[in-house]
Amino acid sequence: MTKVDFLKANFYHVKRIVTGCLMLALLLLACVTNAEEVAKRKITRIAGDLYRFQNKFHFSVFLVTPEGIIVTDPINSDAAQWLKAELVKRFNQPVKYLIYSHDHVDHIAGGEVFADSAVVVAHENARVNIIGEKRPTAIPDITFSDQMTIELGGKTVELTYVGRGHSDNMIVMRFPAERVLFAVDFIPVKAVAWKNMTDAYIPDWMDAIKLVETMNFDILVPGHGPIGTKADASAFRGYMETLYDEVLRAARDGKSLQEMKESIRLDQYKNWHLYEKFISLNIEGMYNQIKLHRRGN
Ligand SMILES: [Zn+2]
Repeated sequence: MTKVDFLKANFYHVKRIVTGCLMLALLLLACVTNAEEVAKRKITRIAGDLYRFQNKFHFSVFLVTPEGIIVTDPINSDAAQWLKAELVKRFNQPVKYLIYSHDHVDHIAGGEVFADSAVVVAHENARVNIIGEKRPTAIPDITFSDQMTIELGGKTVELTYVGRGHSDNMIVMRFPAERVLFAVDFIPVKAVAWKNMTDAYIPDWMDAIKLVETMNFDILVPGHGPIGTKADASAFRGYMETLYDEVLRAARDGKSLQEMKESIRLDQYKNWHLYEKFISLNIEGMYNQIKLHRRGN
């Protein structure tokens, strides 16, 4: 059989395989798209009466009590309206408190949706930034400097300012009975930092994580991505410290930012989410911070 005869004889077979593969690829694509659609907005239970609310790539938590609900980051106006309707449907309880993790707009827009019944709480620096930056959300009614405890319907959430790190107004929310800590943006779980770490304070950021490591909890709930444990907080601090050490050493060796981007590889973290995508930007963010604080003479 010549090559041409062989190809002719097998043409329909090959065509069927190609068509089959194409169908499978389309089916997989449809599944992925569908999964993303389904995951767009979701409520899942974390522990006891503490739930996690997802809106695309953003997450917050809420605690249901017999005297009302404590809601955290509203994310945006549409998301907050969806959540508010779900809370009425599922629990038939008013929202009594709304707590902001920090002032960044992608987490706290839409607070006005809950402000009709809720007391809005945030760190004192968050209030200043929310007003100054004209964030499209409700202005906090109550602020605090170091710590605040909210009790409602026999349940408790402890709010602690973690100092500067990712922004100057980040708080964590600890739910002692549920052994959960809600910490947004400054402790990703098995993921590198976001882009070039704008609004960051370094090395204060590592101190903020050290403070979290002293707290009593088991479950770490971030504002993005999967849930983790306290060990994930230590692991992320390790990442930040390694990145800091590497960039500082390179700066002291007189390397340019471009040379750092080409030479610094943190292979032990290469399987973390967003490593390939953001390692260059993480190096750049760290470089900008280190450059600011190194002596010029
Ligand atoms: Zn943020």
